Amino acid sequence: MLRSFFSLRRRVAKLERIVLDWNQKKKLANCNCRQATVASSLDVEQFEAQMNLPCPAHGARRLGCIVVIEHIAQPDGKNQMASLQQLLEEYRARSVCAMFSQLGKH
Ligand SMILES: [Zn+2]
Repeated sequence: MLRSFFSLRRRVAKLERIVLDWNQKKKLANCNCRQATVASSLDVEQFEAQMNLPCPAHGARRLGCIVVIEHIAQPDGKNQMASLQQLLEEYRARSVCAMFSQLGKH
C-alpha cells in the first residue's frame, strides 16, 4: 500500500514537471527579446521605444548586445548622446533589477 502511494506520488510529480515544461515552452514562444540592438544618438526615441517594449515571456525585454553609435558631427550631437547615455544607464539598472527579480522566482 505504502509502495503504491510513493509510486503514485512520483508519477504525479513527473506529470507536474511535464506540464510546467510545456507551459514554459508555450510562454517562451512569445518572447520578443533581441540578441543585438543598435542605439544611435541620431534616433534616441527609437532606442527608448525599444527599451520600453515589454516581453510577454520575460516581462522586461532583453535587448542583447547594445551597439552604441555616437554622431558627434551633428549640431546637437552632444545633447543627443547625453540623452542616449541616460537611457542606457536606465536600461542597465532596470536589467539588473529584472535579473534579481527572476532569481527570486526560482
Ligand atoms: Zn523575452
